[in-house]
Amino acid sequence: MHESVMKAWWDSSHMAGGNAAYVEELYEAYLEDPQSVSEEWRSTFDKLPKVDGVSIETRHSVVRDEFKKMAAMGLAARAPVAAAGEVGDQKQIKVLQLINAYRFRGHQHANLDPLGLWQQERVRDLELSHHSLSEQDFDTVFNLGSYAVGQEKMPLGELFKSLNRTYCGSIGAEYMHITNTEQKRWIQQYLEAAEAKPALTKEQKVNVLKGLIAADGMEKYLGAKFPGAKRFSLEGGDSLVPMVKALISGAGAAGSKEVVIGMAHRGRLNLLVNVLGKNPSVLFDEFSGLHDESLGSGDVKYHAGYSSDFATPGGPVHLALAFNPSHLEIVNPVVMGSVRARLDRRGCSDGSMSLPITIHGDSAIAGQGVVQETFNMSQTRGFQVGGTVRIVVNNQVGFTTSKTEDTRSTQYCTDIAKMVQAPIFHVNADDPEAVIFVSQMALDYRNTFKRDVVIDLVCYRRHGHNEADEPNATQPLMYQKIKKHPVPRQIYADQLVAEGTVTAHEVEKLISEYRAALDHGACVVEEWRPMTEHSVDWTPYIGHDWDVPYDASLSLDTLKQLGEKVCEIPEGFKLQSRVNKLYADRLSMMKGEKPLDWGAAETLAYATLLAEKTDIRFTGQDAGRGTFFHRHAVMHNQLDAAEHIPLQHIAEEQGVFEIYDSVLSEEAVMAFEFGYATAEPGTLTIWEAQFGDFANGAQVVIDQFLSSGEHKWGRLCGLTLLLPHGYEGQGPEHSSARLERFLQLCADHNWQVCVPSTPAQVYNMLRRQAVRPMRRPLIVMSPKSLLRHPQAVSSLEELASGVFHNVIDEIDDINPAKVKRVVMCSGKVYYDLLDYRRKNEIEDIAIVRIEQLYPFPHDEVEKMVERYKHVKDWIWCQEEPQNQGAWYCSQHHFWDSIPEGAKVTYAGRAASSAPAVGYLSVHNQQQKKLVEEALELNKD
Ligand code: AMP
Repeated sequence: MHESVMKAWWDSSHMAGGNAAYVEELYEAYLEDPQSVSEEWRSTFDKLPKVDGVSIETRHSVVRDEFKKMAAMGLAARAPVAAAGEVGDQKQIKVLQLINAYRFRGHQHANLDPLGLWQQERVRDLELSHHSLSEQDFDTVFNLGSYAVGQEKMPLGELFKSLNRTYCGSIGAEYMHITNTEQKRWIQQYLEAAEAKPALTKEQKVNVLKGLIAADGMEKYLGAKFPGAKRFSLEGGDSLVPMVKALISGAGAAGSKEVVIGMAHRGRLNLLVNVLGKNPSVLFDEFSGLHDESLGSGDVKYHAGYSSDFATPGGPVHLALAFNPSHLEIVNPVVMGSVRARLDRRGCSDGSMSLPITIHGDSAIAGQGVVQETFNMSQTRGFQVGGTVRIVVNNQVGFTTSKTEDTRSTQYCTDIAKMVQAPIFHVNADDPEAVIFVSQMALDYRNTFKRDVVIDLVCYRRHGHNEADEPNATQPLMYQKIKKHPVPRQIYADQLVAEGTVTAHEVEKLISEYRAALDHGACVVEEWRPMTEHSVDWTPYIGHDWDVPYDASLSLDTLKQLGEKVCEIPEGFKLQSRVNKLYADRLSMMKGEKPLDWGAAETLAYATLLAEKTDIRFTGQDAGRGTFFHRHAVMHNQLDAAEHIPLQHIAEEQGVFEIYDSVLSEEAVMAFEFGYATAEPGTLTIWEAQFGDFANGAQVVIDQFLSSGEHKWGRLCGLTLLLPHGYEGQGPEHSSARLERFLQLCADHNWQVCVPSTPAQVYNMLRRQAVRPMRRPLIVMSPKSLLRHPQAVSSLEELASGVFHNVIDEIDDINPAKVKRVVMCSGKVYYDLLDYRRKNEIEDIAIVRIEQLYPFPHDEVEKMVERYKHVKDWIWCQEEPQNQGAWYCSQHHFWDSIPEGAKVTYAGRAASSAPAVGYLSVHNQQQKKLVEEALELNKD
């Protein structure tokens, strides 16, 4: 083509608009396989920029710019676009644009809603006329570009049908928001090559039908046997059962050894019986009011978890359905944490051996922030699990709310997944074969790219929120439609009968066989196997209370040797000067030249555990350095920003030490760590709050999981929470870890609440938590200013003893016989009291520390009280306002402990709605006053 024509062509709107898409299409095809484009195009693309002689993917804007340059130089004259001005090539470009439009927006015309109630927007890009094409072009053969249907060329008529089958059938694929070309291409290949239709064998089809029969049969059976009882029926979303079974089988075939599932109540009983293989008779007993006596308070049946094995083509896969409370989406990070623990145990870092499946509701996935948190965590170092398969049981109504203008501000309930560019496959739940197709595609995508993927199972809810609800009251038109709508089992059975795969008689037989199996009460899942695959034995941890005997003592030599090891700085590693000084000081502490501070003792606790081959997992915002600059578990080289973690290098054979600065979330991260700790008793799992009150953001995890998980579900959890707490004038938000809330939740020895006041105490508390066989949460009010308090120091000998003192008696030389008052306290206020008493040379007041507030150490307190049994005046002194801290929740223990006839009174801040004042001067005044109150004997 003549240069001026080329230039004119280039400057015309074609290349800026339509033709650009054509060239881009060709370029993408060339990137994937240079042989897939014509020689002329290949040589043109070969001229594009390269790095070190290797062809690189070039941004399309760069391609356009290069073409402009080439056009100007006449280089592109040989390119096949030469004929673009001709009618045929113009149409060719339009055809490629049409393909692109289907890829982008086909989902908006897909047949997704089984009820046909969705009002779909007319998408003009999907119409021929929008692309200046018409039915008259149907016989013209066009090049298909990268459309992966398996042919290079096709008549437009056939292509148009193919596009509609692929992108506007029962599957609506949203993936063009993905910027990674490889991932996008992969999905295109998958969908387009099969035209989004699976090739199922007769056996596979019958299996799908069996899944639907089971899903439907189970609900009908329960409905008839226990009319009106809440079961949160799956009906309408029945294809979830064959879908999850297909996912498990596919996961097993791909090498997974475990699948952990999280889901809320909808359809849970159905999955328990029809996928996990729970004995129906056990479920029926639960409906009749019988329950497992071994559990404490227990939980409703639609929150219960379950474990079993499932036979797959790749061997048995262990299944674990996580226990969960009613907070709909909170179980997702728990599942991810559990999977991470299982992956770590198997030494698998790419997620291939354990698969998380999370099942969401349509209103909840759009409504609840914890979903966003988990997406954000999904690719981070500390929390990645190789991708989660997320299924939305989209029954188009949340309890009674169904109008999308009330439930969300996005077109689809799944739009949140786009934040991590996850592909989203919407699928009509009434087309179970399409459901199986997307399940396999989603699983393969997850396994290939190790990323999250979403399946939006568009269905309906046959009954109300529960079976006693009347849905017509709020969704009249929807429920008129649902009433007349055939059940999924019937639709698919009719289809299979019509195509001759099964006979009506065979269908009836399958239905009655399933019913008979339920009558019989035994497991109805053919693939069910007894558990052999789960690889951790919990029995050593069961049946212990907090005071179980243990020996955590170590020799001084061991401590010194490990201490010196954790202070080693690699050659050529330049620490920031303050950090360097801290490590130099720490080294002399480890050598016994100086008493140990908090950071040194804490580090030594980890080092000793690692040397004993205990694994440690530690996360939290700024956990590596520590909010208050005291830990520095991660060294940063000032020369090249390289990182070094000394605790990972203490011995040839040692436990695994992982420490991660977490994403800026409390709820999902704490839930993740709960999941981790409930799946791995051998690891000391620690979550640290940046400031203690930030744990407020994870209140649901504290209330619904940590405090009550063992009591409700019999699930042990040794998670440790380090929550900085202390009144230092920093204002209402950074003073209190809300000790009172944790104390209020104390019962049944559900967890331990400790306020260690010395480095030796934190060392021995952490070691106790790992060495002792009991696995219960440890809630620690950890310090801030005490990290550097000159009196808050300990000797190596105190550490070596291995004893955590639940109570620390008077340490000064005070004669008990002369004591007229005993002040009890916990935490930092102790040092204020001690200072004041020393300065004022008070000799008749003893100060004792209660280092473990729960379980209250009655025996040790009794021993302490024995020394002061003549004392009638006892005081509980705290920094927190009277309605907070330990006063109200622990007072009964104080009263129980003091000698007969004595009384306990309160010294502390007045009750307050805020945790602390915002003005430093007021804080100082209050602090002074409470100490004086506690120590001035004749205050009245
Ligand atoms: P899972 O691997 O979670 O399916 O658990 C397998 C089995 O280990 C369960 O059936 C329980 O018997 C036991 N188990 C798992 N987690 C815990 C836990 N946190 N506390 C006590 N026992 C557990």
